[in-house]
Amino acid sequence: MPLHAAGRVVEAMQDFGFDPGEHLPAQAPWLVSNFVLSRFPAELPGATLAWDNIVLGSSSLGYVVSTHQDLRVGPPPRTVFTAYHALAEMSPGAAREWMTRASPAELLELASADLRTAYGWKLAACCERAEIALRGHGMAVPAPGYLSNRGLLALREADGCILFAHGDLSGYSVFEEAAWWGDRCARRICSA
Ligand SMILES: Cc1cc2nc3c(=O)[nH]c(=O)nc-3n(C[C@H](O)[C@H](O)[C@H](O)COP(=O)(O)OP(=O)(O)OC[C@H]3O[C@@H](n4cnc5c(N)ncnc54)[C@H](O)[C@@H]3O)c2cc1C
Repeated sequence: MPLHAAGRVVEAMQDFGFDPGEHLPAQAPWLVSNFVLSRFPAELPGATLAWDNIVLGSSSLGYVVSTHQDLRVGPPPRTVFTAYHALAEMSPGAAREWMTRASPAELLELASADLRTAYGWKLAACCERAEIALRGHGMAVPAPGYLSNRGLLALREADGCILFAHGDLSGYSVFEEAAWWGDRCARRICSA
């Protein structure tokens, strides 16, 4: 499980050499938003839709076409675009606080910023529904010094009936790191 959860679930995390107050990396909050579209909105001439689309100059992370792995010979009639926004314009704590009091309209405005830039009024004409997930602790922030975080180094070496295997052990959030720690943990269990 993520270390911010483990810090509350595992008794005496300090005994593993990990003090959540000192060693837990800051956790970045994210908005992950699904826009259910009754059809694909028209693209600008010469700007082909990709599976992952970034808006130049935006502070959001763009949107993916969530039906892009459907096995079909042509595009489906309906689709879902998933937009990502890391609330990096605020500190993580301030962003979580904002999330708790933001109105649905404020969340929608932020979540749809890239799509509105790309499609303007055409977005509303196709959008049936938007579902916005608030990820208060979306991923670890790799701040300077994270490679020598002593608490993370200690958890990597934990051995016994509790093992740690989350991407957080690397101090930053990518699938390769998560897969590495999971594989290492499974091998350790198999050889015990
Ligand atoms: C918005 C977003 C976009 C991302 N994009 C990319 C990308 O493009 N490329 C990339 O490489 N990585 C990306 N990542 C990072 C990637 O998702 C993570 O690194 C990876 O999912 C971590 O895998 P994990 O198995 O370590 O942990 P997780 O996927 O976090 O799994 C932890 C599991 O623990 C469970 N859990 C939590 N609490 C408890 C509990 N108390 N008891 C039992 N179970 C519990 C959770 O339900 C979850 O299933 C992204 C992350 C986010 C949030």
